[in-house]
Amino acid sequence: MDLFEHQAKELFAAYGIPVPRGIVAHTVAEARAAAEQLTGRVVVKAQVKTGGRGKAGGVKVADDANDAEAKAKAILGMDIKGHTVHKVLIEEASAIAEEYYFSFLLDRANRTFLAICSAAGGMDIEEVAHTAPEKVAKVPVNPIDGIDRARAREIAQAGGLPEKSLDGAAELIERLWAVFVDEDASLVEVNPLILTADGQVKALDGKVTLDANADFRQKDHEVFVDKAAEDPLEARAKEKHLNYVKLDGNVGIIGNGAGLVMSTLDVVAYAGEQFPGSPKPANFLDIGGGASAEVMANGLEIILSDPAVKSVFVNVFGGITACDAVADGIVSAFKLLGDRGEAVTRPLVVRLDGNNAALGREILQNAALPGVELVDTMDDAAKRAAELAAVGA
Ligand code: GDP
Ligand code: MN
Repeated sequence: MDLFEHQAKELFAAYGIPVPRGIVAHTVAEARAAAEQLTGRVVVKAQVKTGGRGKAGGVKVADDANDAEAKAKAILGMDIKGHTVHKVLIEEASAIAEEYYFSFLLDRANRTFLAICSAAGGMDIEEVAHTAPEKVAKVPVNPIDGIDRARAREIAQAGGLPEKSLDGAAELIERLWAVFVDEDASLVEVNPLILTADGQVKALDGKVTLDANADFRQKDHEVFVDKAAEDPLEARAKEKHLNYVKLDGNVGIIGNGAGLVMSTLDVVAYAGEQFPGSPKPANFLDIGGGASAEVMANGLEIILSDPAVKSVFVNVFGGITACDAVADGIVSAFKLLGDRGEAVTRPLVVRLDGNNAALGREILQNAALPGVELVDTMDDAAKRAAELAAVGA
């Protein structure tokens, strides 16, 4: 999960990293009030999860509250690389003497952590990295040793920071490492890291990516979730611990095992090409190995809540959970959904293979659920599901 700049800075502040005082505003009036509260010159900063806001006109210095109001008016609603600006950060303006660059990140290619530091920070860092790579220090970080003050100072020095900035930068870098480790981040970036006119080193911007695999031990990160940007179906699926990703087609997909579901998406997309409107997968849903009736019911419910879905393809390869258990699950799911007043009215194509496939098919045949068709092979089942979607569309 990527954080907004203001969230990154809230985290930084909690670790004692100096950041300018700031207030988030969602409206022009709130922006004005924030500027009045901060007094003096402020910066109005678009809060979108993409870089290059400065160059896109999303970061503007304002002389006073009136000016801040005008600048907020210009920035709110702006589109920056496909992201609409719904909020701005109003910050006390900093007197910048120098702009540096610093980040910690996971260097997957080299299987290590990396510190990147440069005295040539600011909006042109990508350009610098390209044309003058010697100005950008890349220092591997041993996760066992971590970063202490002395090591932080060495990295700042390697990045070419001047003597006057080294103490401040070293302290900031050491704290930033604590953020990186303790918050389970895969990226913490500060660009620019500034030296102010009065000699302080501060984080003027912040970019943080949190590792979602650590959510189970980072309950506090829940507050960072951008509910407004979440797909409502994906959010509901998440609550039910389902592995669901919304796509924009009309064939609902349920399978057991991520690999099988991925190939099901491909096969359905391919089969769809021969039908009018080229039906495509409406979602990814992996119900995992031990799919109970309840999981099947929840999965079907989520898929059928998507009005775009015209048919559903249930593709199961029985393993530890045998096909008869999955078939029982489908039968119970129909009953459960019926009881919830959400009876299944769209056609379901089911392909069962693997452990106890014959028994599973028998169970479904005997149950004679409305709209359920059994098809033996994955290719034929995909074709049938696509055909039904084309008819239903
Ligand atoms: P980005 O373009 O999305 O990375 O946004 P930044 O937060 O890095 O801001 C872009 C640039 O705006 C910075 O590199 C600074 O040069 C400038 N800027 C940001 N805040 C201030 C400030 O408080 N005072 C001044 N003078 N310039 C600022
Ligand atoms: Mn920046």
